Amino acid sequence: MTRKLTIAAMAVFLLLAMSISMVFATSEVSTGLAMVERGAYLRTEPKLNATRIQLVPKGETLVVLEQANQYWQKVQTQNGRIGYITTNPTYVKSIPSNVNATLQLERSLKRGDRGDDVVEVQMRLSKLGFYSGRVDGDFGPMTHRAVESFQREHRLVVDGVVGPQTTRKLNELLAGDAQSTVTTTAPATAPAPANNGTAPTSTGTEATPTGQASVTTKTLGKGTSWETEMYVIKGVKEGPTVMIVGGVHGNEPAGFRAARQVKDWKIENGTLIVIPDANKVGINNNRRNSSFGDLNRAFPQSNGANGSDALSRAIWAEYQNYKPQYVLDLHEGYDYNVQNKNSVGQTIIYHPSGQMQSFANKLTSELNKGLPASKRFNVLRNPVGGSLARAAGLHGSEAAIFETCTKDPINTRVQYQIKAVEMFFDHAGMKRQ
Ligand SMILES: [Zn+2]
Repeated sequence: MTRKLTIAAMAVFLLLAMSISMVFATSEVSTGLAMVERGAYLRTEPKLNATRIQLVPKGETLVVLEQANQYWQKVQTQNGRIGYITTNPTYVKSIPSNVNATLQLERSLKRGDRGDDVVEVQMRLSKLGFYSGRVDGDFGPMTHRAVESFQREHRLVVDGVVGPQTTRKLNELLAGDAQSTVTTTAPATAPAPANNGTAPTSTGTEATPTGQASVTTKTLGKGTSWETEMYVIKGVKEGPTVMIVGGVHGNEPAGFRAARQVKDWKIENGTLIVIPDANKVGINNNRRNSSFGDLNRAFPQSNGANGSDALSRAIWAEYQNYKPQYVLDLHEGYDYNVQNKNSVGQTIIYHPSGQMQSFANKLTSELNKGLPASKRFNVLRNPVGGSLARAAGLHGSEAAIFETCTKDPINTRVQYQIKAVEMFFDHAGMKRQ
């Protein structure tokens, strides 16, 4: 009886909490810095039972990326980790500042400069996914590299100096961001699906009438620092579903360059899903990892499990949505595997399901025509645990990781990647137009 009463009291409390959060949620949209007053856990999702990423110690300054709801804010820690932390001022006190406000600098900022204006720039670069170092007002080498990546990405003069053009671009991007994040509020206590906050937003036509080809673009993680595009290309005829992924490692350009070409292909039959720049933050910074860590270790390692971070969960949700029979993940290694077993360059690493072994043999014998013995492609089996190919293979797809070697010229590597995708299409029975 008392147990029943307790449950009833809890239900009333939850309903009250929900209505309060709905009243106040929309007024909480602000971003800036926050000071940790008492140790608090950074979590993977905006809820108390979500996985803990780390304990953030007292005294640490956080960059607030987004107000998730009344109780949770999305933040970046000083070591570059992104997650959710409480808004309770006993634990985390907000330092009013608004990265969406127009930045007006009284001087150009460059390496070696210090000051509050550097803090403002670091916060904005963090929010946009270019900077994951300390927000300390010290314009050091990491800030310099972040500014260069930002300039490169936005086709500005790449000099690592924050002058009028770079400032204008920052303002332009964050002004648009302010408009698009206003609608991201939800009741804190509503039961959340496993991939809460990472559900993709469709921006194209969803349903395809039979007998009509179409291309649909979705943004995975829309509004986050790691958002990235997925393309769904449908042919006129029935056929296989094939998934091609590039850029899981941001410093392996041949994979994402090839995938960016593949996304523009037209097909006759089936459904082609392409995620060209899976780890966009890594690509923008020319580094292997995403803000969460190694995306190639983040996919589910057993049946029924989910990805270990928001990015892998967003991609995995699409895998589960489309259930592709064929998955190819495009990577690069630093050396030829045939010469150096420590690197997987010039290999195909297949998951031993379906006919993947015969595909791997066929692909490598084709690519090896005319190659000297010292550069031949090798066939390896069993992609690493936590990779997309391993997870897809475990769930019944024919899957592999294809690797070129960064010692070759970039154009050669992209050609190998394209050839691998073309032969994978043949293997799957997918025809290009
Ligand atoms: Zn890789």
